[in-house]
Amino acid sequence: MKGTMIGDRHPSGRCLSPDLLGRHLMNMRFVAVTVLAAASVLPIACRGGDPESRYSQKLVIIGFDGMDPDLVRQWIDQGRLPTFKKLADQGGLHPLQTTHSPESPTAWASFATGVNAGKHNIYDFLVRDTDTYFPDLGMVRREPPKFLFNYIPTSRPKIISTRGGTSFWVTAGAAGVRSSILTVPVTFPPEEVLHGELLSGLPLPDIRGTMGTFSFYATDLSRYEEGSTEMGGILRRLVMDGDVATTELVGPPNPVIRQQLQALRAKSGIDDQDRKKIAELESQEDVRLPLTVRWNRGAKTATVDVDGQTIALEPGKTSRWIDLEFRINFLIRIHGMAQMLLMNADSELQLYISPVNWKPDHPPVPMSYPESFAGELFDRLGYYRTLGWAEATWPLNEGRMNEDQFMEDLYKAFDDRAQVILNRIDARKWDVLVGVIESTDRVQHMMWRLTDPKHPMYDAALAARHGDAIERLYRRADTFVAELLEHLEPGTQLMIVSDHGFHSWRKAVNLNTWLVQQGYMVVQGQQPAEKKLEDLFGGGEFWENVDWSRTRAYAMGLGQVYFNLRGRESRGIVSPGAESAALADEISAKLLTLADPADGTRIIRNVYKRDDVYRGEFIGNAAELQVGMEEGYRVSWQTTLGGSPQGIVYDNMKKWSGDHGGYDFATTAGALIASKPINTKEPSIMDIAPTVLKYFGLPVPNTYDGKSLW
Ligand SMILES: [Zn+2]
Repeated sequence: MKGTMIGDRHPSGRCLSPDLLGRHLMNMRFVAVTVLAAASVLPIACRGGDPESRYSQKLVIIGFDGMDPDLVRQWIDQGRLPTFKKLADQGGLHPLQTTHSPESPTAWASFATGVNAGKHNIYDFLVRDTDTYFPDLGMVRREPPKFLFNYIPTSRPKIISTRGGTSFWVTAGAAGVRSSILTVPVTFPPEEVLHGELLSGLPLPDIRGTMGTFSFYATDLSRYEEGSTEMGGILRRLVMDGDVATTELVGPPNPVIRQQLQALRAKSGIDDQDRKKIAELESQEDVRLPLTVRWNRGAKTATVDVDGQTIALEPGKTSRWIDLEFRINFLIRIHGMAQMLLMNADSELQLYISPVNWKPDHPPVPMSYPESFAGELFDRLGYYRTLGWAEATWPLNEGRMNEDQFMEDLYKAFDDRAQVILNRIDARKWDVLVGVIESTDRVQHMMWRLTDPKHPMYDAALAARHGDAIERLYRRADTFVAELLEHLEPGTQLMIVSDHGFHSWRKAVNLNTWLVQQGYMVVQGQQPAEKKLEDLFGGGEFWENVDWSRTRAYAMGLGQVYFNLRGRESRGIVSPGAESAALADEISAKLLTLADPADGTRIIRNVYKRDDVYRGEFIGNAAELQVGMEEGYRVSWQTTLGGSPQGIVYDNMKKWSGDHGGYDFATTAGALIASKPINTKEPSIMDIAPTVLKYFGLPVPNTYDGKSLW
C-alpha cells in the first residue's frame, strides 16, 4: 500500500496551476462551449485554495458501507480486528441507528445532512414518476445536452441532485473549516464546498449512464443468451472466422441521436417515412467501438484490438486500464477507461470487459470539486476507479465471473479508494476528512450465502474456499485503519461509521403479487415480460398490465408501498386523509400476518407508516408504507421494478445473497466506533453531522434531527 502513496507535491494548494488549467481547457469535451466555460472555471478553481486553517481540531471519519455491528463485535471478541478493538476500548463500539429505509442512499444522505429523509428527499435507490408510475434511479435528475442542427453542442449535459438539506461540510466550510470529502455516497454531482475538496461517489455512473454495465464475449454463448442481462451486462456471442472474431464494445448513448429520436417520437401523425427513420436512428443510438479478438489457441492467449490499441491478454490476468474514446461527432468525444479479463482461451474463448469508467482527467461532466481535483489525483496516483458502484457484483450475480475473480477485483476496488484517502490524509489540507469505502457492503451482498448453511445457494465446497470472504474484508478494513492511524497527527479524533447492517436473504417476496391477490392492485391480460435493470435506462416498459383505475396500492423499490393517491398520482383513486389512513391500517395489519407457505414463518416484522417516521418538506414524496422484513426475507428484484410475477415467496437462487434494504430498520443498525466516548447509548447516523459542527465550535442548526454525540 505504501508503495503507491505519493505525497502532496502541489505547492499551489488547490488552485489550478496555469499548465493544469490549460490542459483542462484543451480537454473540454464540448469544444464549442470552451470559451464560455473558461470564464466560469477560473474563479471556481481557485476558491478552494486556503492552506492555513483557523482551526486546531482535526477529525477523520472513515465510512465502511454496510459494516455490521454484530459481526464487528464477534470478530473483535475473537481477536481478529485488533485496531477496531483498540479504538473501541477508547470510545466504544455502538450500533448506529440507521434510516427509513435502511439503504445507503438514504442513510448517507442523513449522515451528511443530520436530518431524516422527509427533509432530504432520498427515500430509496428508486423514485417513480407520479405521471407515468415509471421507476427511475433516484438521487439525480438528468438533462441531456442540446445540439444545434443536430451537430453543434449548445449546452452541456446537466445532472442535478435531488437531495435536499445541507451537508455538514458545506455548513462547516462556510465557517472556514477545511474539508476533504472522498467518495461518500450521494455526493454526485459534486457540490461546491468552500475551503474544501470533494471527489464524488455514488451515483457517479459509468459511461453508459448506468450503475455499471459490463460486457462479456464468448464463443460458447447461445443466440438466446445474447443481449442484456437482468442486472447490468451486455452479452455477445463470438463467432470465430479462423482464429479471429470481430465484434463491438457498446459505449455511451449518442445524445445527438437521442435528441433526433425524441423529436421524431413526439411528432403527431407518425408516417411510414418517420417509422423507417426511427428504426434507423435506434440502430445507431449507442456509440460503439469495433473490437477484434485474435485467439492464439496454441498458447491459450488472445489479443484484442480496440480504438487503435492492441492489448495482449493472458487468462486470469486483468489488463492495464485502457483509454477509450467514443466519438459522438467531429466536435465531441467522450473519454472512458476499462479493464479486460480473459477468462478462458482453452477450449472456448471468454472475454470480460469492465464497465467503462469515466476518466478522472476527462469526465463528461464534473466529478469533483474543484473540477480539476479528480484530474490532479489522476496525475498523482494514476488510474483509479471512478464508477460509484466500483465492485463487480453484477457479473458474479449473472454467472459471468467466479468467486476468485470477484474477490480479486473487490480488493482492487478497496485499494483504489484506500489510496485516495491516504493521499489526502497526507496532503494535510483538511480539518475534517471523510472517506467512504463500499467494498464491505458488496462482499456481504455477494458472499453471505457462504456463511449461512440455511441459504439455498450455500455450497459447502465453495464455502471451504470463500466462507471467510466477509471476515477477510473486515480484517482488510482493520489493517487499513491501522495504516491510516500511522499517518494521523496526535490529537486527531477518529470515527468509523457504517450506514446499516446486514442480513441473510434466503427467500424473495413478490409484494406486488401479494397486492394483486389481496385486490389492492388490479392487473389484466397477459403476464408482461420480466423487468430488467437496463429498462430503467433504455426506455423499457413498466406496469403494462396494471389497471390504474382500480389499483389502490403498488410496491416499488426496496419495501416501499405507495398508494395510488388522488391528486398526486396521475390516475389516483385513493383520497388523501381518512380513506388513505384507513387503507394504511388495513394493508399494514394484513402484511403483518403474511406467512411463508413452506413453514408458516412470519415474513414481515414491521410496517412503518409515513407520518410516523418522516417529517419535513419532502414528506409528500415518501411512500405511504414501508415494509420491514424479517431476517431471511427480502422483496424480489421484480418487485423493486414494479413487476408482479407468479407466486409470492420463492427461494433466492442468486449469488446476491445478503441484504439490508427492505429489512426492518430496527434490526439493521450500522456500527460506530469512536476514538472517544459518546454521550448516548442510542446514537443515530443523523447524529454525525451535528457532532462534527459542535466539534468545531459551530452552532447546530435547529432543523437538524440529530444531536451531537460529544
Ligand atoms: Zn448494500
